[in-house]
Amino acid sequence: MTHIATIDEMARVATCEPLKHKKRYIGDCVIRKLQNVTHEEACGLLGVIADEITVQGGIGTLVISKDGGVFTPFPGMRQRIANAATAGLDTLEGITQGVVFISDDELRKREAICHACQFYDAGICKSCGCMLQVKTKLASQRCPVGKW
Ligand code: SF4
Repeated sequence: MTHIATIDEMARVATCEPLKHKKRYIGDCVIRKLQNVTHEEACGLLGVIADEITVQGGIGTLVISKDGGVFTPFPGMRQRIANAATAGLDTLEGITQGVVFISDDELRKREAICHACQFYDAGICKSCGCMLQVKTKLASQRCPVGKW
């Protein structure tokens, strides 16, 4: 499981002092600093021991493992609108087939996966930009990185 860097951990690395209280800004500052460091260096700078570290920011999500760092940018407005339009069309198709919502059991599974995911941020999926309170309920929807 990934370790999601806390504000306190990020504050050890960030130099953007006036913005330290704002998670997104501090995350952006830390992402820029850690984008080209090794996993070992990132652990040392943040003061954590973890196989995988996730840093969330407004610009996207940086996941640093022993294989290196992978940055996933937060989709821009145009992409998010396109994603929402596609989801709407998929849902319409589901309506015509009589399947719109998943079962409560399946919903609980999806929610648990999302809450533990490195892309989860305050109810938003930072990979596709969708509102998870809606996305997780719809039978037509899939996790953009294949977790459900
Ligand atoms: S939809 Fe997938 S990528 Fe997005 S938060 Fe949920 S599990 Fe993570």
